[in-house]
Amino acid sequence: MVDLLAHVSQCCSPHCQYPNCLKVNWLFQHGTECKTGHFGVCVLCKKMWYLLQLHAPSCKETECHIPRCRDLKEHSRRLQQDTDARHRAAVEEILRKRAADIAGNSG
Ligand SMILES: [Zn+2]
Ligand SMILES: [Zn+2]
Ligand SMILES: [Zn+2]
Repeated sequence: MVDLLAHVSQCCSPHCQYPNCLKVNWLFQHGTECKTGHFGVCVLCKKMWYLLQLHAPSCKETECHIPRCRDLKEHSRRLQQDTDARHRAAVEEILRKRAADIAGNSG
């Protein structure tokens, strides 16, 4: 399945030899056009997001053809950055307190 997604992400042929490629492409296409608007309600969209979540973490394509793939990668990168920033802030806070303690004790 992941191999298929890797293929789909690079494949731009409308007449691809893999029937599954067309199927998955159609599914992703549906995801961009679906008008139900409620995440989790549409079975096809659910399937699309499931495939997307399988694909995005392992996707190395900067020019990936899969819609939303870049969105998802960008999203998870931002989450990671947030976590990093929060972690750094927490560490800095501890260091600052410790520095203040030391300064206070010596004073
Ligand atoms: Zn293909
Ligand atoms: Zn849908
Ligand atoms: Zn991708």
